[in-house]
Amino acid sequence: PSSVEVYLQKHEVTATGGDVPAPFMTFEDTGFPPEILREIQFAGFTSPTPIQAQTWPLALQNRDIVAIAKTGSGKTLGYLIPAFVHLKRRRNNPQNGPTVVVLSPTRELATQIQDEALKFGRSARVSCTCLYGGAPKVHQLKELERGTDIVVATPGRLNDILEMKRIDFRQVSLLVLDEADRMLDMGFEPQIRKIVNEIPPQRQTLMYTATWPKEVRKIAGDLLRNPVQVNIGNVD
Ligand code: ADP
Ligand code: MG
Repeated sequence: PSSVEVYLQKHEVTATGGDVPAPFMTFEDTGFPPEILREIQFAGFTSPTPIQAQTWPLALQNRDIVAIAKTGSGKTLGYLIPAFVHLKRRRNNPQNGPTVVVLSPTRELATQIQDEALKFGRSARVSCTCLYGGAPKVHQLKELERGTDIVVATPGRLNDILEMKRIDFRQVSLLVLDEADRMLDMGFEPQIRKIVNEIPPQRQTLMYTATWPKEVRKIAGDLLRNPVQVNIGNVD
């Protein structure tokens, strides 16, 4: 067997749905811009995690992805680093609204994602605003007005701000649904659907989930276009 086959089998990686490129088994394989590789190196990481290895080449090809992997597998950078490359390709003005929207179930997780985006996107000068409930809107709206490349948000608060018409989605072209199963468990499906309806249809959509029940399959079928499904390990 080839080294790719050995890698996929060893890490229990499966990918189905169309042509699937070989995983990036090393950081050199990624071809990421030097300002991004610098931050990864600074963090002391030695190689991509299996979910990163298999989803990065797909994401860079603008494929829609549903990735099923357990907690701790490195999903955050799995989508954030392709998001940085996406931003670099688009060269949108953040004053005109975000280019990337990440939906996350809780304030705590959303804040962690923002921290990671600012840390790993520092050299690439990526800006990131966090929107969540349980805190006054005024500061969050002020931050939005200053312009941002990425919005990380809980669905409830983002939907409120959308309905107030305080965010411009016209240049959003990458949508990430992180912990999709948990967002559905928390009852966020109506807000998620309202948010997605405001995003231009010519977008790339990446969905991450730890489990694969029928509710998640249904929303994946509705929101993703011809996705590749990537599994790491056994999933229920
Ligand atoms: P998940 O979202 O899948 O639960 P996280 O994205 O939170 O996982 O990542 C778990 C931990 O692994 C984090 O501390 C993160 O910084 C770290 N990590 C991410 N990618 C790598 C890598 N390639 N090598 C080593 N550690 C990594
Ligand atoms: Mg996560």
